[in-house]
Amino acid sequence: MHDMTVSALSSALAAGEFSSVELTQHLIDRVKTMDGDYNAFLTLCEEHALQQASNADKARAAGQVHPLCGIPVAHKDIFCTNGIRTSCGSKMLDNFVPPYNATMIDKFDSAGAVMLGKTNMDEFAMGASNETSFYGPVRNPWNTGCVPGGSSGGSAAAVAARLAPAATGTDTGGSIRQPAALCGISGMKPTYGRVSRYGMIAFASSLDQAGPMARSVEDLALLLELMSGHDPRDSTSIDADVPKYSASLNNSIEGLRIGVPKEYFSEGLNPGTAACVEQAINEYQKLGANISELSLPHSPLSVPAYYVVAPAEASTNLSRFDGVRYGHRCDNPTDLNDMYTRTRSEGFGDEVKRRILVGTYSLSAGYYDAYYRKAQKIRRLIQQDFVEAFKSVDLLIGPTSPSPAFPLGAKTSDPVAMYLEDIYTIAANLAGLPALSMPAGLVDDKPVGVQLIGNYLCEAQLLNAAHQFQCATDWHQQQPVQGDMV
Ligand code: GLN
Repeated sequence: MHDMTVSALSSALAAGEFSSVELTQHLIDRVKTMDGDYNAFLTLCEEHALQQASNADKARAAGQVHPLCGIPVAHKDIFCTNGIRTSCGSKMLDNFVPPYNATMIDKFDSAGAVMLGKTNMDEFAMGASNETSFYGPVRNPWNTGCVPGGSSGGSAAAVAARLAPAATGTDTGGSIRQPAALCGISGMKPTYGRVSRYGMIAFASSLDQAGPMARSVEDLALLLELMSGHDPRDSTSIDADVPKYSASLNNSIEGLRIGVPKEYFSEGLNPGTAACVEQAINEYQKLGANISELSLPHSPLSVPAYYVVAPAEASTNLSRFDGVRYGHRCDNPTDLNDMYTRTRSEGFGDEVKRRILVGTYSLSAGYYDAYYRKAQKIRRLIQQDFVEAFKSVDLLIGPTSPSPAFPLGAKTSDPVAMYLEDIYTIAANLAGLPALSMPAGLVDDKPVGVQLIGNYLCEAQLLNAAHQFQCATDWHQQQPVQGDMV
């Protein structure tokens, strides 16, 4: 059962081949026996999941037909879950039990899906390797000496290790796509505003976007259909109909215009990764797409612009963690200032503190124009590059990450090296565009992802093109060699 995709599980549940309770119990057993190797889960919702599974079995028996009814899904521990701890990977929220659900969680509940557990992540989603979590790093199922990518590393590892058929993640600068690439699964960041951010703990509000992670693009389409849609509780959510993404997956891509940005093949790109992306481009040519090279001239500025804008927003978002309202509070404060200072010193890890310092600095009077305003201007130029590009092509293709998974600890002492992991993913966030990553090869027995970027609200086209690639190749079916199986 654990090898099956969401769509295969959905048909099997519908046909009565097994029940959701059996499936859920099987995955719980796998998590209990195997997750010691990966550290993908922070909370296993055993009782809650089995209760939901039993409800789902009854709903199916009574004729409920939502395809995700009874399907176990793991959620990144950034989504507030009513009555279930939501830590955001931080000591600050180690004891935080939200009194409400994120809209996204409500949507899964209303479909009858099963919440298997909450997954490990970089602290407050800041990181590219899942090593900044207060709860220790996640390990890559393909090679447990290597990182899974971040910040949704727990979700990616859980799906790759067959502990969950699907998971949710969030992507502020690449945090769905990078771990998907490094763990050999598919993951999508939709258009900014497509999925509600209500109840999703904020990192950088103008960039954050939730999305699905799974073992096939077909599954991404199913999940995205459920997750998307307008939410009056999120003022940035888009009020536009949600297409039936799964209905257009099999459209022909003959004549699809795919652009190859030349800046995405820069010198930092691992040659093995480059070869996989080139092979994927050839595959698209065989499928009838028209490939052309183009330029996104401002994309080399995306990392510096992001690392001003994102910390600036983070520094304001994280000011709410002050020991008064949520989470950690230091012991025996002598006065208010002592409480703020010690609470925040104790509750936040080094990377979060670094972001707060950088963000506060770039927003301060005297530096605002030189840093924050300039970064916003660059952001606009980056966005305009895409507007220009989409006048002549339908999609863009390139690598997701500069290299396959690297060893744990290899970049932790060099923040700039870690930030450069985001070089190919950040621009889509700065522009608010939808993008996905899917498996496109193996280098040194480790997965490589190829990235597709689409125009605003063109998720259907992106998923269609990606699904056609998966119909013609089997990279997404490769799986890590694991120890004792349950
Ligand atoms: N790696 C980027 C950062 O550390 C992006 C993280 C994310 O997308 N949440 O900010």
